[in-house]
Amino acid sequence: MTTSIVLFTRDLRVHDNPALAAACREDKSVVPLFVLDTDLLARVGDAANRLRFLCSALSELDDELGARGGRLVVRHGRVVDEVVRAAREVGADTVHLAADGTPYSRRREDALREQLSSARGELRVHGSSITAVDPGAIRPDTGRGHYAIFTPYFNRWLETPVRRPVPPPVTVTVPEVESEAIPGAADLDAGPGSPQLAVGGETTGRKLLEQWLSGPVRRYEDEKDIPAADGTSRLSPYLHFGCLSVTEIVTRTPAADPGALAFLRQLAWRDFYHQVLADEPRVAVADYKTTPAEPWRSDPRGVAAWQAGQTGYPMVDAGMRQLLAEGWMPGRARLIAASFLVKTLRVDWRIGAEHFERWLVDGDVANNRLNWQWMAGTGTDTRSSRVLNPLRQADRFDPEGDYVRRWLPELAQLPGAEIQRPWRAGVLAADYPPPIVEFNGM
Ligand code: FAD
Repeated sequence: MTTSIVLFTRDLRVHDNPALAAACREDKSVVPLFVLDTDLLARVGDAANRLRFLCSALSELDDELGARGGRLVVRHGRVVDEVVRAAREVGADTVHLAADGTPYSRRREDALREQLSSARGELRVHGSSITAVDPGAIRPDTGRGHYAIFTPYFNRWLETPVRRPVPPPVTVTVPEVESEAIPGAADLDAGPGSPQLAVGGETTGRKLLEQWLSGPVRRYEDEKDIPAADGTSRLSPYLHFGCLSVTEIVTRTPAADPGALAFLRQLAWRDFYHQVLADEPRVAVADYKTTPAEPWRSDPRGVAAWQAGQTGYPMVDAGMRQLLAEGWMPGRARLIAASFLVKTLRVDWRIGAEHFERWLVDGDVANNRLNWQWMAGTGTDTRSSRVLNPLRQADRFDPEGDYVRRWLPELAQLPGAEIQRPWRAGVLAADYPPPIVEFNGM
């Protein structure tokens, strides 16, 4: 009886999971393995929201496997050692893995391949598991390894056929093998995190997806930039952990509808940044543009006010308070908050990116670091002089102040748009600060 291992990483699902599907098709039994990787945990130890979301995603994955006769096998240790150990225990010589282009994932993949081949084992890497279009699958004619400008990338992306989603296995037969319990947040020493954090996992993610595709996606184009409307999908953490397959979402999104097309465009931004990072791993920490950036300022008090949502600009502060409360922010709020830090306070984008990664439940190297660089003018954006004035942004995207009112209760008594300029009302709430810098339009 042949047995193989499926190493789950950030593809925590049974639907449209090419690695799991191949293993179940080709082998009599499989070990669906998740390793609590001590090297990775040491790097993300303060990201309580992601650790908590991960725990519930593992629990839902175990339930999904259980419904098919299987279960999740959990080990704790260095990932390569644990995979090799599990393979030896069950006599498996094939390990299935989703392809991933981050610098860490590629090192993991190389190390696994080397270790397995010295034991005559094989690593099978499955593409288009984490992105819809694999990094490197579409390249510009210039001979460069990635597209640096989004629009031509998007045009090619739209024309590129996406693989057909694979159904979940009907049965998953798992051999006798030891497993640790599915971890809870306390097992991972995850701190308290955000009080209103989303529940992680495939089952929850699929319900959200069904609801999203049943109607709201068609309003996406009109509502995506109005934070008070909550008109975006909120699927980002489920995509980050692979509780949902982006390939399945792309396949099921009707591109002929203008709202849905705008949504597809955002999914393409995700693929776009993954292909940049896969080709230029250095940009996780270094500026994408090699021309020297203007020097950054040191402003610990400004950074502290920004992190706490106490800059005195309600539109900036509402986003930053939502981040602390939910571990998530809508895209428009991320742009406004990021612009304030890098363009107004002139603080290094890496400081902002680290704060986001500590709190964001969808915190993702490619999407976070490259969006920050886009805003900072060091990345793939060609209009590096763009500055978002938080007052104009508020007038345009929160004209009645409903978003700000939701997150700044101390200003809630100010009616309509007045809430955006509390200093004009002459009733600055005792516990809300005056603006820490000046802007046009005050
Ligand atoms: P929707 O608007 O419903 O979009 C659907 C999906 O498309 C998202 O779930 C996401 O996977 C993808 N997407 C949307 N916008 C972008 C974008 N600009 N770049 C890349 N992918 C996108 N996204 C993350 O997933 N992780 C991050 O760590 C992250 N950090 C960001 C930091 C900054 C400074 C900025 C400006 C944006 C960041 N984004 C990040 C991108 C984007 O803001 C979020 O993906 C989006 O707000 C998540 O909400 P949603 O799922 O409702 O998105």
